[in-house]
Amino acid sequence: MAVEAILAQLLRAQQVDKRLTTLARRLESLPVELGERESTMAALEAEAEELEAEKRACFVRSTKLENECGTREDRINKLEKQAIESRDPSSAQIAQHEATTHRQENSAAQEEALELLERADGLAAKREAMNGRLDEAKESLDAMRASVEADAAELQADVDTLSAEREELVADVNTTVRSVFQTLSAKHPGKAVVPVKGNSCGGCGTNLTANDRVRVQAAKGMTRCPSCTRILVMQDLWTKMSEPVQ
Ligand SMILES: [Zn+2]
Repeated sequence: MAVEAILAQLLRAQQVDKRLTTLARRLESLPVELGERESTMAALEAEAEELEAEKRACFVRSTKLENECGTREDRINKLEKQAIESRDPSSAQIAQHEATTHRQENSAAQEEALELLERADGLAAKREAMNGRLDEAKESLDAMRASVEADAAELQADVDTLSAEREELVADVNTTVRSVFQTLSAKHPGKAVVPVKGNSCGGCGTNLTANDRVRVQAAKGMTRCPSCTRILVMQDLWTKMSEPVQ
């Protein structure tokens, strides 16, 4: 294979590599985006659960207060009976006084129980209002899951096709050139092969000797930058082969 054809293949392989890097980044970003959406959903569900728990706690506390009122009510009845039946005015007064205290306690407890029920109603309404948001979030999460799956499959298919193409491109060149290219590609991703810019290396900017420039121009062999060791090509070939891979 002519040197220029080899260099053209390496340039194409390099473009394929750039595209593969982009695709790999996109593939990596998909689960991240999905994870963010899942966190939003989880936060919303937690908020709804919190409202439910608070509502339940209101009911529990209100029921407890009402039960206590019932117990006190029984006690009040007994004390009143005692006060009426007692022959001792002072113990009748004590019973009466105790009954009054319990009545005050009951009145306060009933007021609190009522407030708790009102609060529970408010919480229930708030929770109800969240249903729309929850449904929406769930729908959008499901849609995203489906699209992420489809996108991932499509990206992976592209990766597979391009990887196979790259294999073929480098398989065609001789082992030495291939190994130089692979090493340089690992060191300078997407920039293993660079154009001569004016009198310098397009990779590191080192000035090239007239001899090197002539060698690159003639495309007689593989010329490498004396400083960064990248493979050098003429600007024309570079431009011709720099079409991004879609
Ligand atoms: Zn260089």
